[in-house]
Amino acid sequence: MSALKALQTEFPASQILLPETEAYKTSNSTYLAQQNSDIKPAAIFQAADAKDVVKFIQLVSPFTKDEDFAFAIRGAGANPLPYGNNIGETGTTLDLSRLDEIDVGENSVSIGAGARWGAVYDALDGTGRGVSGNRSAKGGIGGLALQGGVSFFSSREGFVCDNVLNYEVVLASGEIVNANAKENSDLWIALRGGGNNFGVITRFNLRTFPQGRFWGGSVYYFGPSFPSQVEALVSELNKPDATKESHLMISAGFSHLFGPQAMCMNQVYYTQEVEKPDVLEPFVSVSPQIDSMNSMRMMTLKEAASEQAAASQQVRCSYMNATVKADAETLKQAYEFYTSSVATINTTTEGLTCSLTFQPYALSFLESSASQGGNSLGLDTSSGSLVSVLLLSYWSKREDDQKIKETMRGVLEKIEQDSNERGTAVSFKYMNYASEFQDPISSYGSENKKRLQDVSRKYDPQGLFQKAVPGGFKIFP
Ligand SMILES: Cc1cc2nc3c(=O)[nH]c(=O)nc-3n(C[C@H](O)[C@H](O)[C@H](O)COP(=O)(O)OP(=O)(O)OC[C@H]3O[C@@H](n4cnc5c(N)ncnc54)[C@H](O)[C@@H]3O)c2cc1C
Repeated sequence: MSALKALQTEFPASQILLPETEAYKTSNSTYLAQQNSDIKPAAIFQAADAKDVVKFIQLVSPFTKDEDFAFAIRGAGANPLPYGNNIGETGTTLDLSRLDEIDVGENSVSIGAGARWGAVYDALDGTGRGVSGNRSAKGGIGGLALQGGVSFFSSREGFVCDNVLNYEVVLASGEIVNANAKENSDLWIALRGGGNNFGVITRFNLRTFPQGRFWGGSVYYFGPSFPSQVEALVSELNKPDATKESHLMISAGFSHLFGPQAMCMNQVYYTQEVEKPDVLEPFVSVSPQIDSMNSMRMMTLKEAASEQAAASQQVRCSYMNATVKADAETLKQAYEFYTSSVATINTTTEGLTCSLTFQPYALSFLESSASQGGNSLGLDTSSGSLVSVLLLSYWSKREDDQKIKETMRGVLEKIEQDSNERGTAVSFKYMNYASEFQDPISSYGSENKKRLQDVSRKYDPQGLFQKAVPGGFKIFP
């Protein structure tokens, strides 16, 4: 008997998708990154509810000991890390997409692990309340709520994981437990940043807050203005009275759609119903800009997330990241490294669209994060505001995979070396933007890593989620 046979004796064929069937092909083609769709598991198991997840764990566990059976856990599949959410041909992918129920409560929302954020925002629309979630309607809940999560509201509300009141978890034993501030609180904190290392989360409860419409959107402009935008960003972040209501994200990059010159984009929001607030003025009035692409307007959460989702489509994709202190010289130098390296591959890579994105972890963001019960990320306010440096690339052809990754890794290493020399480097690597050569768990610091290992030993003594779920970022050694 194999693990697959064991599953087939207990579940109908409609829940166990096999290669060559249309259902399998459809499901496996819906990853964000083509690289993950290229991976072909022996089967895709579609759980219908938490009890199915329990049965799945109980049925496959015996085969993980002697037979090397392994599985992947998939939320929406919006993370491009190869094998993070899919597994090769000896394994099975546990697909949670059918667990998509959403219940709106008075001060919280309960979200099934397979839901996408667009459905959550639809459910909240018109209630006068918002939630910390993905800025794109297409993104999935699991990756975001287990690996950090930056939202439109982060300067006020912290990471998405800080807003999780309860995780419903299927442990390695098959037991369903709740992890919250009162029950299994060590597990609750570990899950806030610990990824897929402790169990399968079947339901997430997130706090909601009063939220009306807000003002924001995107502004497109040209490379020569980027250094002054970096200065404006750092100046705002370092103000003693910086507002908690702004969300600033500035990017420079290249796209086959725009030709060989660097293009830049500010995605900026003020999360109160205030038209053209002063704080956004430097980022909105940048000149020259492409007026026809300026989308600044008053919008609901649902509309803001739909605008960001419009940009995504399935192609090859890679993320990698670093964190630095809010220092203009470090960021301007990063821009120089990026543009000079990427200019060499820009016109020779089919379908390339890539960007260097600066997203602040503003001081108020870090303060809010620290005030909500704790997480495993290891960030604090001692270095002031920080900036996440994300290198994001999309391209068309497999034969360019190596070239893109090597070029981007080279740029990242230069940024890291330079920021180390300036004393502006911060060890934190954001798991949702990390590449396979990075080690976000170690970047949380040795104390946090040890705490995660202790929690793993307590809730998963046989190490099922370490050995039998090889994808994602693991916490041992
Ligand atoms: C268009 C777009 C917009 C984005 N916007 C943002 C943004 O605004 N803010 C931000 O911070 N990031 C953003 N990201 C990055 C995104 O947060 C990550 O890619 C995230 O991991 C996707 O979540 P997912 O549920 O689809 O994860 P998946 O790709 O399905 O899984 C990611 C990891 O989480 C694990 N996992 C997922 N669900 C569970 C579960 N229920 N139980 C146990 N383990 C689980 C998987 O095993 C895997 O290791 C964006 C990405 C895209 C493509």
